[in-house]
Amino acid sequence: MPWRLLRFGLSKKHPEPRMFDAPDALKPSYDVVIIGGGGHGLACAYYLARDFGITNVCVLEKGYIGGGNTGRNTTIIRSNYLTPEGAQFYDKSLELWQDLSTEFDLNLFYSNRGHFTLAHTDAAMRTSRWRAEVNKHYGIDSEVVGPEFVKKHAPMINLQCGHHPIMGALYHAPGSVARHDAVAWGYGRGANMRGVEIHQRTEVLGIDTKGGKVCGVKTSKGYIETTKVLSATAGSTPRILKMLDIDTPIFIHPLQAMVSEPLKPWLDTILVSGSLHIYISQSSRGELVMGASLDPYEVHSTRSTLDFPEGLSAQMLDMFPFLSEVKVMRQWAGMADMTPDFAPIMGKTRIDGFYLDAGWGTYGFKATPVSGKTMAYTIANDKPHELITAFSSERFKNYELTGEKGAASVGH
Ligand SMILES: Cc1cc2nc3c(=O)[nH]c(=O)nc-3n(C[C@H](O)[C@H](O)[C@H](O)COP(=O)(O)OP(=O)(O)OC[C@H]3O[C@@H](n4cnc5c(N)ncnc54)[C@H](O)[C@@H]3O)c2cc1C
Repeated sequence: MPWRLLRFGLSKKHPEPRMFDAPDALKPSYDVVIIGGGGHGLACAYYLARDFGITNVCVLEKGYIGGGNTGRNTTIIRSNYLTPEGAQFYDKSLELWQDLSTEFDLNLFYSNRGHFTLAHTDAAMRTSRWRAEVNKHYGIDSEVVGPEFVKKHAPMINLQCGHHPIMGALYHAPGSVARHDAVAWGYGRGANMRGVEIHQRTEVLGIDTKGGKVCGVKTSKGYIETTKVLSATAGSTPRILKMLDIDTPIFIHPLQAMVSEPLKPWLDTILVSGSLHIYISQSSRGELVMGASLDPYEVHSTRSTLDFPEGLSAQMLDMFPFLSEVKVMRQWAGMADMTPDFAPIMGKTRIDGFYLDAGWGTYGFKATPVSGKTMAYTIANDKPHELITAFSSERFKNYELTGEKGAASVGH
């Protein structure tokens, strides 16, 4: 090991600026406490400070920022959802993504690729047409295309796909990918520069209420007084809600993904097949980023399993037989917080001062900017932003579901 590197590692003085300050201790009170230093919690902190001047805020993260689903996802960004509420919400996010690298002065490797949802059955073609019509109505670039168009954009594809020939696809030109952990760092640094404190390795252990209102938070590093708490904890949401005796329809399933060894660039687009339950894109490093649908069992674990790469590879080879010699480099899992209608739960709760941003399942990375912005508005004004009223938890009581399953399952 070079002497200079060793000396640097052992020294307490690091001349490079850190991404954000790491304060030694918590303050006794904050105006807003955000639980969860994933993209959503950090984005909310950023917009609270930037748009509303609310800076006496802390983000509490039990691990390290971006170490949850934010740093485990496969980074598909798109807005071609099925419901009017979903399509408009995700389209606002797509708009916000465009300026983020400049705004943060940090390269998020936002890369516009185009996104195909492949259809192998008449039913899938029908859903594609339905989505295209809803999307066009809201000005979202989305169209149904034939197999030749797919082949033109992905020349290596086997259109026969084993026994599931590709009949067509829903094509969404704005579909993109980005570097996930840089998104957490960008929002974290931006929030911190405006006065927000970020406390890593700080776990929330309890939330206190008095007269139906939030009054404080117990953490592994001491007690904080506050009147406003946001939970943005994705796969840990049921545990947080249990602290307040709030029932939730959220159930947790593992969601796995894997990457191959790096290859020369050959796939310039994002391909998703709902019928084969797989999707693939190629990262800027050349790795093939691949995933499938949720594991079929409910369990709070980020353990990977062998049947995942086996099943995924079998389907992937039907689509791209030439990949048979390519090695899988690593696999991992996240805990996806699923709701019955595949739409998030956002906004106020029955406890005054307790706000929820959850139910992001397999599709919440793309929503990071818009969820941060709308939750910041909701907390600052104590009233839900108009873009999220369809995502209130009340919808389960009132049977007013926002059914996104046709657009949000394996497609992310
Ligand atoms: C394999 C996989 C692939 C995916 N692919 C896509 C995709 O292509 N496109 C897409 O849009 N979405 C995708 N998603 C979904 C997306 O990753 C998530 O919806 C999104 O990242 C959620 O962000 P978050 O900030 O809410 O949660 P997280 O990033 O999980 O952050 C929550 C944080 O809360 C912290 N926390 C929990 N409990 C406590 C506590 N008690 N105290 C303090 N901190 C706590 C956790 O440590 C964690 O860091 C995928 C997910 C997975 C797992």
